[in-house]
Amino acid sequence: MTEFSLALNDDQLQIKDWIHQFAVDTIRPAAHEWDEKEEFPWPIVQEAAKIGLYGLDFIMNAMADPTGLTIVVAIEEMFWGDAGIGMAIMGSGLAAAGIAGNGTPEQMMEWVPQCYGTADDVKVGAFCVSEPDAGSDVSNLRTRAVYDEVLNGTKAWITNGGIANVHVVVAAVDPELKGRGQASFVVPPNTKGLSQGQKYMKHGIRASHTAEVVLEDVRIPGRCLLGGKEKLDAKLARYREGTSSGKQPAMATFEATRPAVGAQALGVARAAYEYALDYAKERKAFGKPIIMHQAIAFKLANMITQIDAARLLIWRASWLAKNGGYKNAEGSQSKYFASEMSVKVTEDAIQILGGYGYTREYPVERWHRDAKIHTIFEGTSEIQQLVIARAISGLRVE
Ligand SMILES: Cc1cc2nc3c(=O)[nH]c(=O)nc-3n(C[C@H](O)[C@H](O)[C@H](O)COP(=O)(O)OP(=O)(O)OC[C@H]3O[C@@H](n4cnc5c(N)ncnc54)[C@H](O)[C@@H]3O)c2cc1C
Repeated sequence: MTEFSLALNDDQLQIKDWIHQFAVDTIRPAAHEWDEKEEFPWPIVQEAAKIGLYGLDFIMNAMADPTGLTIVVAIEEMFWGDAGIGMAIMGSGLAAAGIAGNGTPEQMMEWVPQCYGTADDVKVGAFCVSEPDAGSDVSNLRTRAVYDEVLNGTKAWITNGGIANVHVVVAAVDPELKGRGQASFVVPPNTKGLSQGQKYMKHGIRASHTAEVVLEDVRIPGRCLLGGKEKLDAKLARYREGTSSGKQPAMATFEATRPAVGAQALGVARAAYEYALDYAKERKAFGKPIIMHQAIAFKLANMITQIDAARLLIWRASWLAKNGGYKNAEGSQSKYFASEMSVKVTEDAIQILGGYGYTREYPVERWHRDAKIHTIFEGTSEIQQLVIARAISGLRVE
């Protein structure tokens, strides 16, 4: 176990500066254009791949850090640049986490690299859990997998859905067992029967591609069942006998990624705070800079306090995830607090910029739209509160 410390080591500081510079030079200048276009920013992701920021090596190195802090530090800087482009760069990570969390070492070696491609031939991955009638209620998936591996169903709101090289699909194999009767499958590139449904036009993170994924008699080889058939059969037998309670495969993936989602929201909030602080020092009203009006100065004081508090929760959760695991629901606490904080801080930033803040000429309205998604995906704020309430009470709060 490593000591918990708030001091970043030299490697982490270098990575932080390197990503910050990429965010300043490449991500931020492109943010407005791709938000307006509402398209996946392939050229920017290719740039990220060229410098080694998008790709398997970066994720593997960041995830190998024993303090757990590198990945959340990296994400904060990326999302400080722009959340839509940040999601385009980080979105494949969810598919990779789904494979790493449920697959064998051989499956990881085969499929995770294919979620990223190479610097010359960039690919993306998608993690497909949610459905039109099952978002928070992941135990109610209708997508069915029948031996030998035929998938049918529709997945909703899937990041990189339809444009991904590799789709990881969570489906029911034994619907009677609800969430415990599910398994994860890799759908290899160009598999017949998988298609993109509607592309969603969104409120924020508009550079990130979100679409339905339609699965019609999708036949996949047996080696695509993550974890393997033998392990799944044994697990299902235990559940049917009632000798194990077990975890849903999708839940295991989301639990691991919660501090990272908190770090995304944190990056957006910090961007808005810094912009509002500079603006408040320049903008004059009633003969003085608006920061000299206590109402504005106190707002900024609250914003930075909330931002720093969120970072502490995120770093604690990330460190715990690598060092002995969560004691309560620290991952959920960090995601819940950071995402709600980000919505409030970006709203305050609009207020500080007044009329300008409400226009698309200034980035704060985009940051507000971008912040909002964090209270919804990978477990809504209400679901995070449920997880925390159950952890502290030991009761099945509904
Ligand atoms: C941009 C975007 C990207 C996404 N990317 C992905 C992806 O890559 N892969 C994927 O699988 N999914 C993805 N999602 C789906 C996302 O995870 C779901 O939208 C989310 O989990 C909420 O589910 P829902 O939309 O069905 O809302 P619902 O579950 O219908 O919830 C509606 C409201 O009811 C509340 N609620 C529900 N149940 C309870 C309860 N028990 N107690 C209290 N309140 C409750 C919720 O908090 C929410 O406020 C994405 C969504 C968006 C918008």
